[in-house]
Amino acid sequence: MPLPRGLPVVDHHCHLSSHGEGVRAVARFRAAGGTHLFLATQNYEPGVPLTLEAYVRQFELTCRLARQAHEEVGVRVYPVLAPYPIDLLAASEELGPGRALELHRAALDIAGRWVREKKAVALGEVGRPHFAIPQALNEVVEQAFHHALEVARDSDCPVVVHSADLSVEGFRELADRASDAGVRPERVVKHYARHRMETGSTGGVVPSYLARRDLVNEVSGKPGPWFLETDFLDDPGRPGAVLDLATVPRRASAIAENSPQGGDRLYVPFVESVERVYGWRPEVGPEGSAE
Ligand SMILES: [Zn+2]
Repeated sequence: MPLPRGLPVVDHHCHLSSHGEGVRAVARFRAAGGTHLFLATQNYEPGVPLTLEAYVRQFELTCRLARQAHEEVGVRVYPVLAPYPIDLLAASEELGPGRALELHRAALDIAGRWVREKKAVALGEVGRPHFAIPQALNEVVEQAFHHALEVARDSDCPVVVHSADLSVEGFRELADRASDAGVRPERVVKHYARHRMETGSTGGVVPSYLARRDLVNEVSGKPGPWFLETDFLDDPGRPGAVLDLATVPRRASAIAENSPQGGDRLYVPFVESVERVYGWRPEVGPEGSAE
């Protein structure tokens, strides 16, 4: 069975760079059957941003790449914006922790404003480094994360969380953390999830699974919400460091081909989960390109 007609094929987390393949990678995604991308911002300049202007330049570039991909390749790209939590470490060294936190909070405020202005669909990546950091910096990171959650609450938008791999307890702690800040856990996505989470075990936090073949096979057919992602980095210096951008459409095609209900199951990650977390459905036009 081919993919059902009109089914959006969605990679829920990737990066694109103006120094990497950029829109050419999106063309590969489209050729494999992909229709919609959630594009997380990233640092495009050497070193971490040390001024608010540098963050604005960064967010503008992300939005420009998104527009370009839609115009040139017909893939709908949804920007996801926030200062990267790990920026706080280098920025603290350069500016001192107080000013680094102030900058980070101001950049989060801008990301929130862009979400309210519909230039982006979510705040992300926010959260915590995936490695141990000194206690003093930990406090800065936690304060920044708390502010990110407050901005998401005030902007009424989903939050995409970067963190170490999480156990059931980790998911629940994240859910509590979000609730405490006034964000419904159902609007919190743990990106780069590497193990299947039992539905109902995460406190409401939504896993976005890395689209490794074994994991995709394990989760497909399971009730949502959950997403699939590659976390494609578009970094020519690190080929093969992450999954290629064509991976999600390839896995989707394999699922549709291998079982009669396969195609229908894909509505869970590509349509229902987007609707539950973001509040709207990705649409596919008559030509098969994203609306
Ligand atoms: Zn990422």
